[in-house]
Amino acid sequence: MSFEERARLLLNELFPICRSLSGEGNRKSYQILKQLVPLETIEVPSGSKVYDWTVPDEWNIRDAYIANTKGDRLVSFKSCNLHVVSYSEPVDRVMTFEELRPRLHTLPDNPNAIPYRTSYFKRDWGFCLTERQLGLFDPQLEYKVVIDSDLNPKGSMTLGHAIHRGKFDREILISSYICHPSMANDNLSGVVLSALLFDWLRKRETNYSYRLVIVPETLGVIAYLNRFEKELKSNVVGGTVLSTCGGPGPLGLKPTFLENSWLDEMAKAALSTSKNWREFPFVPDGSDERQYASPGFRIPTLSITKDKYYTYNEYHTSLDDLNFVKPAQLQETFEVYRQWFEKVDANLIFERSEKHCEFQLGKRGLYPQTGGAFRQTSDNQQILNVDALSWLMFGCDGETDLWSLSKRSGLSMEVLLGNARSMENEGLLKARPH
Ligand code: ZN
Repeated sequence: MSFEERARLLLNELFPICRSLSGEGNRKSYQILKQLVPLETIEVPSGSKVYDWTVPDEWNIRDAYIANTKGDRLVSFKSCNLHVVSYSEPVDRVMTFEELRPRLHTLPDNPNAIPYRTSYFKRDWGFCLTERQLGLFDPQLEYKVVIDSDLNPKGSMTLGHAIHRGKFDREILISSYICHPSMANDNLSGVVLSALLFDWLRKRETNYSYRLVIVPETLGVIAYLNRFEKELKSNVVGGTVLSTCGGPGPLGLKPTFLENSWLDEMAKAALSTSKNWREFPFVPDGSDERQYASPGFRIPTLSITKDKYYTYNEYHTSLDDLNFVKPAQLQETFEVYRQWFEKVDANLIFERSEKHCEFQLGKRGLYPQTGGAFRQTSDNQQILNVDALSWLMFGCDGETDLWSLSKRSGLSMEVLLGNARSMENEGLLKARPH
């Protein structure tokens, strides 16, 4: 199946599901993702303390509507799950329009859009609707208001993760958030792309290990970091937070908090193959990089985006749908990420077994044996290999990584890694990860 077909299937299957901070919609979404990647799910009980936070009761919703006295439904959860403020407590009453009005959220500047609103930590309820729908209410009338939901103190919040073991235990993180209901760019695009990237990685023999984390935004990541604090602190080199990566607009990069680390430079190199991309500054807002970058962890994560959050009009509304996010757009971002991961995975640090002077490569079959003919050959690959061997003998001091050598020499990571492997096979070099 092509990338586009696989992306389309996942987007179509996952889009209609009502997800939130917790609840059956999230579990159902994990079940769908498990068909692609071996996600393990973890339940964090409601009431659990995670750092400064407490996991709230589990929220589930079956139906919700506002109807007039004739029984006509003016707003219905079943037509769009954004109509209900996420985590709304149950309601079943008749109200005047005046009583109801403060509970109705609209976007006057975007009259055809239903806004997305949540109330996870304050018991509340409300409806979200378009300005056009609001216009259908008669201020003189009463309305029947029903939210058939429950908040269960014996419930839990579900987290999902998977690990692909590479040659080394040091890990690259791929993190995305699953708590948004029916919106495509924020953040179904991130969920789908992270799963497809992890699926691509897990079928390869990699140097680094890869950790896929798909959890609710903010509190889910906080609970995940709390659960795996030791492991993450000791193993994770850095990684990416996948958010808003499938829109029709330009590609973008939000760098890590380090801003100019090798992870950032590699992302810029990967993005440079596309015509049009924007660089955003690192700021401590946005998505789950806020938790990863906190002083206790300081895990550098970047985001490669396509229509980054806050920059498009459809953001956090019902217009962020599957007309806005198309599989071909997601594939553009996939290709950039693929190049990035290839570079990241190749970035090892080699150390020479003997650091004094050059090795005698000729006797090991690594160097052209005929002296004097140096650079008088039309064999480009041979020239590249000889160059790479020189740079590796010069650079492999046990501290310098291949990316530094690649930048300095102009040689690709692939050529450097291939020649480093040849030298390693002769016992001349030894690799370690970052
Ligand atoms: Zn969002």
